[in-house]
Amino acid sequence: MFVHCSTCGAEVNQLRPFQCPHCHTWHWRNPKPCGGALIERDGQVLMLERDQDPWRGCWDIPGGFCEDGEHPADTAVREIFEETGYHIELLGLLGLWSDRYHGTEPPATTLNIYYLAQTPDGGEPVLDPAEASGHRWFGPDEEIHPIGFPGHFPQVLDAWRAVRRGQRTLTPLPDDEFLRRHH
Ligand SMILES: [Zn+2]
Repeated sequence: MFVHCSTCGAEVNQLRPFQCPHCHTWHWRNPKPCGGALIERDGQVLMLERDQDPWRGCWDIPGGFCEDGEHPADTAVREIFEETGYHIELLGLLGLWSDRYHGTEPPATTLNIYYLAQTPDGGEPVLDPAEASGHRWFGPDEEIHPIGFPGHFPQVLDAWRAVRRGQRTLTPLPDDEFLRRHH
């Protein structure tokens, strides 16, 4: 597969990361940041039934890739509005997990940032049919199967269950810039 150096246009027979043999520019391959949220209602968490690859038909935590310059908390708010119609309120940072995303070739490394959230909207989510074919609220003692993104979702859900049981504290939203824009 040939790619072109974006600096000098030379053909380079190599996937990122590489250094252009012509102009010596480095082309890096950095992890992709993602933002998502565990949305709670009555002690249960919202999971979506994924209707796209990878992990079609598996349970999905709503969220997605950060856009350029977008804070991951804003990504979570934006993606969840697009996917569910909910205007969520973020309660705190649940944690960060690294994973491999097999929807790209070669698989990209992702840095997945999850928040705990609630929705003041009430009612059931209005799903985007391009992304999800169903939804369900799961209690902390329920098995969630089949689960998407098994490289990190089980750990994220365990962290949520630990918060529910009071065995783990949430990290308060730490980012002054984010807080200034939302409060
Ligand atoms: Zn070059």
